[in-house]
Amino acid sequence: MAWENERIDINVYSQGEVDRWVYSTCNICSVGCGCYIAVKDNKIVGIKGNGEHPVNRGRLGPKGENQWYANNSPDRLLTPLIRNASDNLVPTTWDTAMDLFVEKSREVLRTLGPDGIAIYSTGQGFLEDYYTIAKIGRAGLCSHLLDANTRLCTATTQWALLESFGADGSPAGYQDIDETDTIMLFGHNIAETGTVLFERIMSRRLRGEKPFLIVVDPRRTLTADAADIHLQLIPGTNLALLHGIMHRILRNDWIDKSFVANHTVGFDEMAKSVEPWNLDLTAQVTGLPKEQIASVAEQLGKTPSLVSTTLQGAFQSADATSTCIAINNLHLVRGLIGRPGSGPFHMAGQPSSSTNRTVGGVGSYPANRNPSNPKHIQEMAELWNVNPSHLEIGPEKDIEHMIYLMESGQLGLFWNIHTNPMVSLPNRLRARKAFEKTFVVVQDAFLTETTEVADIVLPTAMWGEKEGLMENADRTLNLCEIAVPPPTGVKADFYILLDYAKRMQFMDKDGNPLIQYTTPRECFEEWKAVSRGRPSDMTAMTYEKIKKKNGIQWPTNEQRPHGTTRLYEDWVFHTHVDDTQSFGKDPNTGRERTKEEFKRIGANGKAILYGLTYYSPAERPTPEFPLWLTTGRLVWHWHTRTKTGRAPNLHMAAPQGYVEIHITDAEKLSICPGEVVRVVSPRGRIEVPARIVDTVLPGLVFVPFHFGSWEQNQAANDLTVDFVDPVSKQPIFKQSACRIERIREKHIITQGETLESVAKKHRIPVDELRRANKLAPPYRIDIGHEVEIPSIANVVIPPYTPFREVDVNPRFRQSKLPVTRLDSPRGKE
Ligand code: SF4
Repeated sequence: MAWENERIDINVYSQGEVDRWVYSTCNICSVGCGCYIAVKDNKIVGIKGNGEHPVNRGRLGPKGENQWYANNSPDRLLTPLIRNASDNLVPTTWDTAMDLFVEKSREVLRTLGPDGIAIYSTGQGFLEDYYTIAKIGRAGLCSHLLDANTRLCTATTQWALLESFGADGSPAGYQDIDETDTIMLFGHNIAETGTVLFERIMSRRLRGEKPFLIVVDPRRTLTADAADIHLQLIPGTNLALLHGIMHRILRNDWIDKSFVANHTVGFDEMAKSVEPWNLDLTAQVTGLPKEQIASVAEQLGKTPSLVSTTLQGAFQSADATSTCIAINNLHLVRGLIGRPGSGPFHMAGQPSSSTNRTVGGVGSYPANRNPSNPKHIQEMAELWNVNPSHLEIGPEKDIEHMIYLMESGQLGLFWNIHTNPMVSLPNRLRARKAFEKTFVVVQDAFLTETTEVADIVLPTAMWGEKEGLMENADRTLNLCEIAVPPPTGVKADFYILLDYAKRMQFMDKDGNPLIQYTTPRECFEEWKAVSRGRPSDMTAMTYEKIKKKNGIQWPTNEQRPHGTTRLYEDWVFHTHVDDTQSFGKDPNTGRERTKEEFKRIGANGKAILYGLTYYSPAERPTPEFPLWLTTGRLVWHWHTRTKTGRAPNLHMAAPQGYVEIHITDAEKLSICPGEVVRVVSPRGRIEVPARIVDTVLPGLVFVPFHFGSWEQNQAANDLTVDFVDPVSKQPIFKQSACRIERIREKHIITQGETLESVAKKHRIPVDELRRANKLAPPYRIDIGHEVEIPSIANVVIPPYTPFREVDVNPRFRQSKLPVTRLDSPRGKE
């Protein structure tokens, strides 16, 4: 294990000892930390890390430690709601709500057909939920409109893996991070988005060991601060950088010729595409110094082992899939895959977004089956005992396509499960109009920005109140047990899905109920049969075994009963025509390849190298919108804050939105620290305080995307562009154009007034008044002179200690709320 020792992070709020600790897994991010839930008087009262779990050895990050507060939030929904004739959501019974849901579903199926209904789910559900969504959606409704917020998060992971290796599933895992010589964190602010995994990397570095750390990010983040080399490139130039690196690697012959010859196809085309990318061109496009590019290329060209991780800085940028494929290309030409300490590791964001991809709730058919291969469709039809002609053929449809269908009246019902698209979707003002034209069903534990456009709201159980499995970013299946029953009136997503299937009378071809399992465990047994023989085979897993081993990585079957640490150790890839999960797409245009085109590639078990074309972002700064806008997460919050916003510690740490502006841009615009400014893009405008920093590049502003209340006007996604990557269809959140406008009162100087008296009157420091008005010494102002009065807000965000170097007595404290830690290495369970 990477960790030298365990350290039990614990956050409990209880009078006296807790009654019991219940085995679980953190439900926030894709790192997948093991934990125990504290229960007292049948109520969740806290959490502690699982010291034996290899992922975290007891450690938890701030979001993980505080996730349980939301379970006890007084505004939990406890009854279904339906929208009445006066356009208000009013309480109703489950029967009434479900009858209406079913009636509306039947009406839409009758009038618009199967593709009149879309299911849009989450990355925070369980395997059993997703598998049931796949079965209901594909074999029950016969719809191909299954997507999830994973489209905004990890769709690019999936497509990059399909294109290069023929199947989903990250080749490398956490153990490789422990063993590698070099880590490249590409668009991956791991210190804030996966805090415990960052600690794991840093724990080696604190011992004076490797890895050498390369960070690629246009912002100087906490992660970048820890790097040996930080490549702070111009937004939207990821692929240009990788082309420049590959150019150097090829020119210096730092390649594994034997690996390339025996285990890849497409080398010549790939080499040709990087030919023009010498240091001059790469430096010119990326804005990076030539010496830095050369130095990184040498490190990547010579390192004996390498793990490259990617996250939203790659996935949500221009050339997203191409960027991740280029990283795969790099590993393949160096032969750094399938070996200890090596491999591309395209991350997931949410705790179980990978599960959704694996079991077919989103993306392709269950267990890595190819929706364009009749053989795979036939297999699914046999496994589900349905007519194969009822299963739709071809690649999945994405959320932006669904929005188009809503706008054009072709989508009659949108079923939204445990996600909040009215904050998370790009260009959300357009999305809201589309939702308002559609019958919307929302499953959630709370009223959210999305329930404002819902016609039915179904209250759901949360983490700790339901049972199931989650798959983290490195293919590890983890178990979540039930700590307490859901509040009265609330149901788990799984049982809502089963109820819907029963009421809709979905049948197999023999007239038996399509869904016959009645519990998550029975569902998992059915899933295991579906997974048999496929890349994500889980036939040798059980809930008990997963718990006993604190997680198991797929594939786990008779041949590999203890799971699989890394993929492709035999260097045989899933690129045989009847094995591959997809015939792929042209990486430059997104056009789907036919089976014949795929065959012509001739991969047959070899990995595929691609020639890739760099395209700059579709939207760029202009004279009217002269700044780049990028968005992202804070360490204190997760996504739309439905849970983290209800944890007092996290809410207090970061209660509102803001915009980060580089100091030189702030000076040009005479913006004061904390001044409320208007950020305007071609799509919308928000008003937020300015944080003046030197961590973004000049010409770039950053807005955290968590804050989406319709009342507050701080939503980053009022601004973002809704273009998508041509292959993965993931929105390009990271590159839009914007401008900053001042919002100021005017004040005319009258007899007897001084700058000091004006500042006092408007309650701002006199220095800020001078700065705002670009006044120079001796600061004279005459009667009748007009001065601008900025409005200043407090945007102090407490600093976060990205790793806790003292084990039992960490210096990390977030608030005055009771936060205790055990003195012994392991607490009572
Ligand atoms: S790193 Fe992720 S999984 Fe681990 S405690 Fe934090 S939020 Fe949870």
